[in-house]
Amino acid sequence: MLLIGAHMSIAEGFFNSLYFGKEVGCTTIQIFTKSANQWKAKELTDEDIEKFKQAQKDTGISPVVGHDSYLINTGTSDKELLQKSRETLLLELTRSEKLGLPYLVMHPGSNPDEKVGIKKIAESLSWVHSKSKNFKVKICLETTAGQGSSIGYKFEQIAQIIDLTEENQRVGVCYDTAHTFEAGYDIRNKKVYEATFKLFDKVIGLNRLKAFHINDSKKDFGTRVDRHEHIGKGFIGLEAFKLILNDKRFEKIPKILETPKEDDWDKKNLATLRSLYKG
Ligand code: ZN
Ligand code: MN
Ligand code: MN
Repeated sequence: MLLIGAHMSIAEGFFNSLYFGKEVGCTTIQIFTKSANQWKAKELTDEDIEKFKQAQKDTGISPVVGHDSYLINTGTSDKELLQKSRETLLLELTRSEKLGLPYLVMHPGSNPDEKVGIKKIAESLSWVHSKSKNFKVKICLETTAGQGSSIGYKFEQIAQIIDLTEENQRVGVCYDTAHTFEAGYDIRNKKVYEATFKLFDKVIGLNRLKAFHINDSKKDFGTRVDRHEHIGKGFIGLEAFKLILNDKRFEKIPKILETPKEDDWDKKNLATLRSLYKG
């Protein structure tokens, strides 16, 4: 079965994200574990958890992937922001665990000094791991476009973070097709596609790959600007998505849209993805 879906809103309750997903034809979805643009989080009640788990049974949608909120920067040199970021990441990991999510995708973080940033991120992950013994949920570092001073736009940076992290068997990776393309990894034809994933395997390891963000790019190759576009409407084009969807190695890996949502675009993008699948 094709494991495709989209990021869904939790504004009307965690459980509704699943029914909304079902409505547009998702077999997997991604959600924020709390409001994405503020530090504070509404309490997660037992009722929220129960309703969510019931909705997951009803819809059959699995896995549900978590995504962390935007203010978190575990790579910062600002002590206060760093501590707040770590605590919020731990809170989000705890909420993910309670909801039974297998993965929490996070943006690694940013720092004008790449080396320092990588060290801070790894220390942050180690700290979060030390406070969440026996959790099943895994943190997945997302590949980035490299906009501003964000870290994670080179496979080597992701590999270094994992390498420096304690209990790093608990760390996975989320491959965002728009970000990596914007960062300078090409997948537009079979030849470069194979080369990029061969490199990913060599530097990070394909066994770390737990999720895809399936986005076309509004910006051209290597621009390091992060702008998502509808599938087939951007600079990446359909061939790359066809290759991913039909790659046996990635069959069981959730592929999630983070494309603009106005009108019926989730439905349209999912239909496009389905049309590319030959299985
Ligand atoms: Zn993301
Ligand atoms: Mn993404
Ligand atoms: Mn993005």
